[in-house]
Amino acid sequence: MSDFAAACRAHFPGARPDDAFVAASLAIGRRYGFTADNTIACVGLCRDELSRELRARIQGAWGEAFNFSGLAGMLFVGRTGFMAAHAHAPISGGRERYVYFAMPHIAIDGAGTVGACARTGRPGPSSACGALVAFLAELRGSRVRLTTDPLDLEQTLLQQRLMEVVPHDHRPDLVEITRAARRIIADDLERMIKLTLDPEQADCLAFTGIQIHGPDGGYVEPGPSWAVIDGARRPIDPGAFEAAISPGAGA
Ligand SMILES: [Zn+2]
Repeated sequence: MSDFAAACRAHFPGARPDDAFVAASLAIGRRYGFTADNTIACVGLCRDELSRELRARIQGAWGEAFNFSGLAGMLFVGRTGFMAAHAHAPISGGRERYVYFAMPHIAIDGAGTVGACARTGRPGPSSACGALVAFLAELRGSRVRLTTDPLDLEQTLLQQRLMEVVPHDHRPDLVEITRAARRIIADDLERMIKLTLDPEQADCLAFTGIQIHGPDGGYVEPGPSWAVIDGARRPIDPGAFEAAISPGAGA
């Protein structure tokens, strides 16, 4: 096993290649009546260009997506952004269908170093997610900016949200803070769906997780996922997800 694979398995035991994750989303979607033809995807990943590969895979499977992206994958697009996306779905059989993908990201390099990655044409190590790394640096220095800064809007909003969940006197590492971001993003997604999706006319699927950049490609550790059909929330069982992304599952 490579150093990357060992580190990835240790920190993100549920991680799977990103193409298998996207194929699973299609297979799960079909079970609920969602297809690329009758659904619009809404994708919230980090603004980092490293996230492009997963975004491209999602769009290759589901078609052109509404862009929900923000620093660290946070859903700062807000209620107005969700409602704008909700005016764009196909209407099929009298229903609108949305599939949301929302997650933070992290890099692991070939030596198994968490947070480290290489960038094309740029010598020396780089890191991802830079926004979460910057937050941890401020936390280490005990000088976390919590005032909303119009000139650093997304980062200061991100820091406010993270400080709500970091226990007092605890110094999380990058994996912990990435998992915290994932929980915030999943909570925000659930709240936004309740606020903006009209169950009289629309159904949705929601996929959360953590995007992982490896030296040989991208991975996703699936997180809590659910469907809302006719207003009823149905959790997507992790086992069913696992089955969909297993080799030979026909996904
Ligand atoms: Zn990032």
